[in-house]
Amino acid sequence: MSAIETSPVPIELAMNTAPSGSGPVGQASLAEEALRRLNRAVAVYSRDGAVQFSNGAFDALLRQPAFASGLAALFERTLALHSVRSEDTPLSLGERRVYQIETVPLSHGVLVTASDVSAEMAERKRVNDEARTDPLTGLGNRLLLREQLAELMSDLTLHPSAAAVLTIDLDRFKAVNDTLGHPVGDALLRVVADRIRSQLGRGDVVARLGGDEFAILQVDPQQPKAAESLAARLVDLLGRSYIVDGNLLNIGASVGVALLPGDCADGDQILKYADLALYRAKSAGRGTYRFFEMAMDEEMQARHTMEIDLRRALALREFSLVYQPQVNLDTSRITGFEALLRWHRAGGATVAPSDFIPLAEEIGLINPIGEWVIRNACREAAGWSEPLTIAVNVSASQFASATLIGTVVSALAESGLAPERLELEITESVLMDDTQSVIDILHSLRQLGVRVSMDDFGTGYSSLSYLRRFPFDKIKIDQSFIRGHEAEGPGGSAIVQAIAALGRSLGMTTTAEGVETEQQLSRVAAYGCTDVQGFLFSRPLPPDKIADVILNNRAQPSEPPRKTNDTQGGDSL
Ligand code: C2E
Ligand code: MG
Ligand code: MG
Repeated sequence: MSAIETSPVPIELAMNTAPSGSGPVGQASLAEEALRRLNRAVAVYSRDGAVQFSNGAFDALLRQPAFASGLAALFERTLALHSVRSEDTPLSLGERRVYQIETVPLSHGVLVTASDVSAEMAERKRVNDEARTDPLTGLGNRLLLREQLAELMSDLTLHPSAAAVLTIDLDRFKAVNDTLGHPVGDALLRVVADRIRSQLGRGDVVARLGGDEFAILQVDPQQPKAAESLAARLVDLLGRSYIVDGNLLNIGASVGVALLPGDCADGDQILKYADLALYRAKSAGRGTYRFFEMAMDEEMQARHTMEIDLRRALALREFSLVYQPQVNLDTSRITGFEALLRWHRAGGATVAPSDFIPLAEEIGLINPIGEWVIRNACREAAGWSEPLTIAVNVSASQFASATLIGTVVSALAESGLAPERLELEITESVLMDDTQSVIDILHSLRQLGVRVSMDDFGTGYSSLSYLRRFPFDKIKIDQSFIRGHEAEGPGGSAIVQAIAALGRSLGMTTTAEGVETEQQLSRVAAYGCTDVQGFLFSRPLPPDKIADVILNNRAQPSEPPRKTNDTQGGDSL
């Protein structure tokens, strides 16, 4: 810093001679006077750092130590580089004053000017901050988070457990918004933001990423302990009741955690990883947290590939239906078949419906697939030699789409199948979503003559109330009550007996699903089930085997058609 003299003593301007040849006498002194009176701070230094001239504004600034030392540093750089404009290095004096210093090398010195850019800088900061702030909660936004992440990642000396990213998603927030309106939803988000803020350390950054999603960058070398403790605190705190505008609200939070740079050293990727862990926390029942594991990424990749394949499976005709007989215990005859979907994925593997139907539901593909199933099943059944029923499984989202009734009507019309022969199987999840509108659709279907069964009964929550709200034709008792350890205990048998009795008194057929052994058969018969379906009688069969089974069914009315076709059934699942 010694290269420059920071004394405020003004020295007479050295260049006080008029430019050669022209100009009125006294022009130099006029110029000097003008410079002295100028609001902007101006000084001329000799190359060895002595002040040659400075105006009053400059002298005033020079009295401030921060300005003097900042100027000294700049001056040294000016000499070294020959010309430095200081535009990008504004000099702050105290809290709010910022000066823009410009240095221009002259033939025998350096011209220094300084102007007050405090207002511009304050405005720039305001705009900057605004661009990085979520206006609703005052937290940061995605841009802020990404910048902070990038900054952290650029530090190559980062300790492997330097930080964690936590993504938070509120459970049941949508219900608050939908039922109480957006103003209450917004107010709730602000309280949530306060609760999150209250749990953060000094270096932590929190952002609202949109909707009810938040993310935290927790900078703490005590990972994963610090993140685990924060995640647990957040799940607990955000899950406590809220009172917003006089409403008592109960929501919850799920949290996903990824460590950085341990899990990954890419800012965008780490957010994705935390989201994958969050997704896991949600599917584990919400109101909990999960740490990212590499296997989650692999699963997600596999899921993504499956999604791409599933999207083109219909066009590539990779689906088929197999049919499993349903047998009446009184007559020992087949009363109908259940259509079960199979996906023959390119590469040879046959995928079980439980492995792809949930995905198809999630990505909105179940509607076209479900429509294909209904049309094909009706067409197939219309060609059978006996008027047996054809049961088709229908997912919850098919009820939500408003096209279900139209599809059923046109499938019946196209195939010529009598409506009474079509039976739709729904699970309780269908009724749980939006019960009244589903029940309305069920009534419309019933008016067409179509039958409706309650599938997998006993696995949901409020089965009995649903049974009261809609008069199902059939209850299918879930396999878990028929087969296996629990089914064989006293609890299982009591449940099957109770359901069979309930079905009897409500005038509904009760089908025991998944009967595999003679022992199970005699048990469900003794409990009062009216019908059975299971491998004991037949595995699901390809369509070309059905004609024979129906013929056999007619020919031997006293013998149930058990074990006649399961080995060549062709259903590998
Ligand atoms: P679900 O409707 O309860 O169908 C019965 C399932 O149990 C079928 O499995 C059938 O193969 C199997 N099963 C029948 N008897 C036995 C037995 O004795 N032992 C054993 N271990 N299993 C037996 P699948 O075909 O894998 O279908 C699974 C589920 O996928 C179905 O359960 C149904 O919920 C769903 N699904 C199948 N096809 C469709 C469809 O076209 N649309 C929709 N939305 N869902 C379908
Ligand atoms: Mg079913
Ligand atoms: Mg079932």
